[in-house]
Amino acid sequence: LTAEEQDVIDEIDEENVDFLRLQFTDILGTVKNVSVPASQAEKAFTEGIYFDGSSIDGFVRIQESDMRLDPDPSTFAILPWRDDEEGATARLICDVIDTSTGEPFSGDPRGVLKSAIERANEMGYEVNMAPEPEFFLFEEDEDGRATTVTNDAGGYFDLAPKDLAGDVRRDIIYGLESMGFDIEASHHEVAQGQHEINFTYDDALSTADNVATFRAVVRAIAAEHDLHATFMPKPIARINGSGMHTHMSLFTTDGENAFHDGDDEFNLSDTAKSYLAGILEHAPAITAIADPTVNSYKRLVPGYEAPVYVAWSDRNRSALIRKPAARVPAASRIELRSPDPSCNPYLAFAAMIHAGLDGIERDLDCPEPVRENIYEFDEEKREEYGITTLPSNLGEAVAALEEDEVIQNALGDHVSEKFVEAKSQEFGEYIVEVSDWEIDRYLEKF
Ligand code: GLN
Ligand code: MG
Ligand code: MG
Ligand code: MG
Repeated sequence: LTAEEQDVIDEIDEENVDFLRLQFTDILGTVKNVSVPASQAEKAFTEGIYFDGSSIDGFVRIQESDMRLDPDPSTFAILPWRDDEEGATARLICDVIDTSTGEPFSGDPRGVLKSAIERANEMGYEVNMAPEPEFFLFEEDEDGRATTVTNDAGGYFDLAPKDLAGDVRRDIIYGLESMGFDIEASHHEVAQGQHEINFTYDDALSTADNVATFRAVVRAIAAEHDLHATFMPKPIARINGSGMHTHMSLFTTDGENAFHDGDDEFNLSDTAKSYLAGILEHAPAITAIADPTVNSYKRLVPGYEAPVYVAWSDRNRSALIRKPAARVPAASRIELRSPDPSCNPYLAFAAMIHAGLDGIERDLDCPEPVRENIYEFDEEKREEYGITTLPSNLGEAVAALEEDEVIQNALGDHVSEKFVEAKSQEFGEYIVEVSDWEIDRYLEKF
């Protein structure tokens, strides 16, 4: 055992942990668990835990189904909502290993992100990420099923007594802190029932792990308050949806922010600008992964602080990428505003990193920032500025992914194929549906 693994074993003992949940995510971003008694911890570290991968969505065919979970000791955390007298439950996030080759399994999203980070490392960079996941809190009905009724009438940054969800948010924050999160801020978002909790930036892998954990903690603690927390991007029409803005920067291996240049008008280095240009170039394909549901595209419409146009800005929030003001050089970064919290964070971050690194490798030129409100531009003005639009539905996004080799390579053959297959099917099912809107509009008219 390594020293870090031994520390985990000691903590399991001290904290009375009975069960370990060994976690990984499938291609669609759903967290999967294999539960083992805590007495198996040592074996889990030394030999790994074997499981049948064929039962996991998009993983493997039956004949190649033997997978192994290798727990990452740095991810050990006690689950705050299972902490009863009988003994605690802890989780460990795992890498998935293909037992036939002994290599990381190419269908493991965490492995996909690790490869993206490795490419950055080879180019001399560390990747830092900070996401801003938004979510809604809804009431449950008498049968405990989720509704879309909010239990508060608060607006942006409102305080109690209007923000009745303050209590729940506080409990969520305690839960997150007990799992090692460093919470920077939490506030009521623009829409009623909508909230945002911000945690500190970290390296890309830890941040993706954090997003997966964050969603689980928020849902579990909301449920303890008889509320349903949802990361669905646009649960209610005609009000703001939920995004997951992602801030990112590259640091050199000696700890300097490679995105910062104090002499530049925007404090952005040439490296940052090429990276930004790479994201702009691959934006349509990234959208398929960062906005992976039919519903995601109900959010990406003008007028609700969500991006539609492929441009960047140092001023306004209608652009796809924003350059936030930074007080210190270390904080120079860019914010990608398209991702929503229904995405698989490992795959979404991998796509962003590869797109940005592609921009750096090809030394892409960064366009001028757009300082006006792009929502108000007409087509002519957009053409004049060379501004294209994001895909307007999941079908278009998947088509963009199928045309973008850089982003397909970012995912690898296995994930890329399975992802396109799953999402094409999802979109196919959606377009044959007849919605309430159509019935209201046409049934009596024609
Ligand atoms: N909810 C908005 C979105 O969909 C973002 C609002 C904000 O954080 N300013 O992206
Ligand atoms: Mg925010
Ligand atoms: Mg926000
Ligand atoms: Mg933001």
